[in-house]
Amino acid sequence: MRLSKLFGKTLRQTPAEAENISHQLLLKAGMIHQVAAGVYSYLPLGWRALRKIENIIREEMDAIGGQELMMPVLQPLELWEKTERDLAFGKSLFTLSDRRDRKLVLAPTHEEVITELIRRNVQSYRDLPLLLYQIQTKFRDEPRSRGGLMRVREFTMKDLYSFDVDEEALDISYQKLIGAYKRIYERCGLPSVVVEADSGAIGGKESHEFMVIAPSGEDEVIYCSSCDYSANAERAESIKWPGDEEEQLPIEEVATPGVKTIEELANFLGIPKSKTLKAVFYAADGELVFVAIRGDLEVNEVKLKNALKCHDLRLASDEEVKEAGLVAGSASPLGIIGIKRLADPSITPGVNFVAGANKPDTHLKNVNCPRDFAVDLMVDIAIAQAGEGCPRCGSKLLSTRGIEVGHVFKLGTFFSERLDATFIDRDGVERPIFMGCYGIGIGRLLAAAIEQNHDEKGIIWPLPIAPYQVHLCPLSMDNPEVASAAERLYLDLEQEGLEVLFDDRIESPGVKLNDADLLGMPLRLILSPRTIKSQSVELKRRGEKEAEIIPLEGVAKRLKAFFAL
Ligand code: ATP
Ligand code: MG
Repeated sequence: MRLSKLFGKTLRQTPAEAENISHQLLLKAGMIHQVAAGVYSYLPLGWRALRKIENIIREEMDAIGGQELMMPVLQPLELWEKTERDLAFGKSLFTLSDRRDRKLVLAPTHEEVITELIRRNVQSYRDLPLLLYQIQTKFRDEPRSRGGLMRVREFTMKDLYSFDVDEEALDISYQKLIGAYKRIYERCGLPSVVVEADSGAIGGKESHEFMVIAPSGEDEVIYCSSCDYSANAERAESIKWPGDEEEQLPIEEVATPGVKTIEELANFLGIPKSKTLKAVFYAADGELVFVAIRGDLEVNEVKLKNALKCHDLRLASDEEVKEAGLVAGSASPLGIIGIKRLADPSITPGVNFVAGANKPDTHLKNVNCPRDFAVDLMVDIAIAQAGEGCPRCGSKLLSTRGIEVGHVFKLGTFFSERLDATFIDRDGVERPIFMGCYGIGIGRLLAAAIEQNHDEKGIIWPLPIAPYQVHLCPLSMDNPEVASAAERLYLDLEQEGLEVLFDDRIESPGVKLNDADLLGMPLRLILSPRTIKSQSVELKRRGEKEAEIIPLEGVAKRLKAFFAL
């Protein structure tokens, strides 16, 4: 490809709107163009890199027996109502109506459509197992798109679905996919870690995310300093410091004028926050819920949502709390009637908590659960934090940030039961099919690869996903000798089947070298009047400081051999 003809210009300035490195570099290198919030066009260089990633994924999916197919983005809303996932996705689901007023969905994922397809095409255990996948556009009306390609509203995903006769067979498919995912990230030059992930309201048994550890990552990963436990903070568990064993004392009222927050309460009474009891009210699908947790801990809303099995969860407003006859900010766990009560187990080992008294400027001392109040559900709903104990081995937990580049999920029979996808087993019994789903966001993977592989001058493409392998960069194209040697070399390289970006522009060496660094192709060949004089060419790997001078004769063959390795 001649750079003079390439569509997409490099920018001198770093675009002000870019939030992270990959966003900055992709815009600066002319590889993507923003159309609307969270909606991008890929320009030729960006598209080439994306297609290379797609092909690596395709090869690895085919290698484990995956069969590629293609399902529509446009789907009837009705199908989503059957699984209630229209509610689960809520406002993130793009919906529209056709000319006959039939409601449609722009699919954010494809479990419903593929299960429906399987229902009609699988009858017997002999038809299973199956691994079906596609590389297709997804739509999600994200509350906040950000970070260039990291979180967008329209993106390409590789989604594979596995279909098996039982749990054990699903395990085998699941492990196959984990292996393939590891190979994919490795081939893309991305070190990834597998962490336990939230399985959401689907109630699937197991789910893992593949994380690329990076400071710009949106996700928090909690991991053990000694064993191999690691989990997304959304789901991480921890051993909390237990409360002191104390004799339970009688309840006492204490005046706390002007005290509203846990912080103020602990300061006012001169006690640690862990001796206070936090009461929080939520609206779960519109219904008021009371939640109690130890004062030094925070509620993990993902865990809470799963525990409540609700679609929509938000903090209740002061009005809603008041309407229920409670005093917001001073609510007491005692005497709550007619409202669902949940508590985190952290409130049981400690005794003699200070809690609200359900009247202003007053608190209760020596509150104990279950002596003084009962709850309907006692379940882990606390955020796990670095410094707490590992749930497996008790060692100290640590925290880091990661980019979620893939997600694998044992769905079990959630979809097959709701959409009636069954098979007849060996004994002639009809059973629901066991399913798994496995997604990789391809644009996000591309962005993560840049986050991990760049320097202050630009992108350093890992070879397997580089838009071109070689950047041919003659420094003085206005010198006829250089120009003709460059043209010849370009032809030779292309004839050897190498992918070459040829900077045939008449530009200053500074501009050309800066662009080569910014665009980041793995190998650079520089021709100049000096190298021509010695019938040589300068070969430099992007990301390495030292260049090598090699004979011009035979360069193409030499590079071909290099890439064949
Ligand atoms: P997130 O937690 O980041 O919103 P998710 O868990 O909802 O993602 P999945 O449904 O598991 O995402 O989708 C599979 C993969 O698709 C993710 O691992 C990620 O790589 C990618 N992905 C999801 N949402 C987006 C998005 N808005 N933009 C780009 N890629 C995305
Ligand atoms: Mg996910």
